Amino acid sequence: MDFRLSREHKDIKSAAKEFAEGVFTDHAEEFDQNETFDEGIWKKACELGFVGVWIKEEYEGMGMGFFENCLITEEFFVVDPGIALAIGTTCFGSEIIQNSATEEQKKTYLTPLVKGEARMGTAITEPDAGSDTAAAATTAIREGDEYVINGSKMFITNGIRGKFVLVFAQTNPENPDRHKRHSFILVETDRKGYEATKLHGKLGIRASETTEISLSNVRVPVSNLIGQEENGFKQLMNFFNQTRCYVAAQGVGIARSALEETIKHSKQRYAFGAPIASLQATQFKIAEMYTRIQASRAMTYEAAWKVDHGEIDHGLIAAAKWYSGRTAVECADIALQMYGGYGYMADYKVQRIYRDAKITEIYEGTTDIEKIIIARSLLR
Ligand SMILES: Cc1cc2nc3c(=O)[nH]c(=O)nc-3n(C[C@H](O)[C@H](O)[C@H](O)COP(=O)(O)OP(=O)(O)OC[C@H]3O[C@@H](n4cnc5c(N)ncnc54)[C@H](O)[C@@H]3O)c2cc1C
Repeated sequence: MDFRLSREHKDIKSAAKEFAEGVFTDHAEEFDQNETFDEGIWKKACELGFVGVWIKEEYEGMGMGFFENCLITEEFFVVDPGIALAIGTTCFGSEIIQNSATEEQKKTYLTPLVKGEARMGTAITEPDAGSDTAAAATTAIREGDEYVINGSKMFITNGIRGKFVLVFAQTNPENPDRHKRHSFILVETDRKGYEATKLHGKLGIRASETTEISLSNVRVPVSNLIGQEENGFKQLMNFFNQTRCYVAAQGVGIARSALEETIKHSKQRYAFGAPIASLQATQFKIAEMYTRIQASRAMTYEAAWKVDHGEIDHGLIAAAKWYSGRTAVECADIALQMYGGYGYMADYKVQRIYRDAKITEIYEGTTDIEKIIIARSLLR
């Protein structure tokens, strides 16, 4: 076993770091305050090949893996989680297309994503169905050569910025098996009856767009079905195996940022005649942060590496996601505490880190859901 990153991996990491430090830093505060984003940054990230690196070369992607995406994600999230997410989610759901769409669909939808010509979203969550994804009640009923879609979706990333959204909907509500009722249907966001409203006032990751979607008699051709009918739940679980690795990498990036801020501040800030870094209480906190980050990263790397090699380790993926999210939240808490009163003020990055961290314990499966998966994988 070789724990060292290859030359190529090191280059990917340093290119991502250089891009994020050069471009995100000046905008992070403004985008956070105003809940905005700059299209130019996203297009530049696409141009440089940082978006959807797992998309195969035949669709003009980089043809890399989820492991490489984790390397980029960590570096981007160290600099600013809001901007990092606004870029990283531009192809949220492309994994489902690459995994299960027809060749023609892949060519039509994947290429514009990596070229910076289109964004997409994936709409699973509903006002009354979050963790229990199989309870999603939106319907897509077949009428001739079309699906007629009705329902509402909640907290959907890129509902407005996206050119199309994959909607998780019941195509066979009568199926007695609730895990065999859903399918993924691609809905172009300019379809009649599709309406997305931006949700304001998020705690963190405010450069990323979160929306509520209403689908009222939206008609799409049956050719917009992605994969097989009634296979949606299975497609969704496969998708989560990939996206949970990224969220784990997000947590690692946020926690690392908290550690870097803590080290910087503790060397500069004096109390009782000495830098607070000289206090053993501070040193213990720094040691704890470092150790948790190392453990989180090790799990994340292994989980993503296994996904890339076709070895799906549900328990490990869930553990990486849960532990990295927890680490991000705990490290952000320590960093803010180290900054004392200054940390509580908007002028300091630690306040943003503290607010941004929490989402890693909520989306793509809450902490509780991850623990259920871990326990299930062990008690099987
Ligand atoms: C900023 C943001 C972006 C998002 N982007 C998207 C997106 O692009 N697409 C999308 O589809 N969704 C998206 N989501 C939704 C997100 O995935 C859900 O919020 C999440 O899955 C939790 O669902 P919920 O909010 O309905 O909480 P609930 O499922 O109602 O959970 C509430 C609480 O109950 C706990 N709980 C639930 N079930 C169990 C159980 N069986 N055992 C123990 N505890 C349990 C949960 O852990 C949680 O603490 C986004 C959310 C946010 C905040």
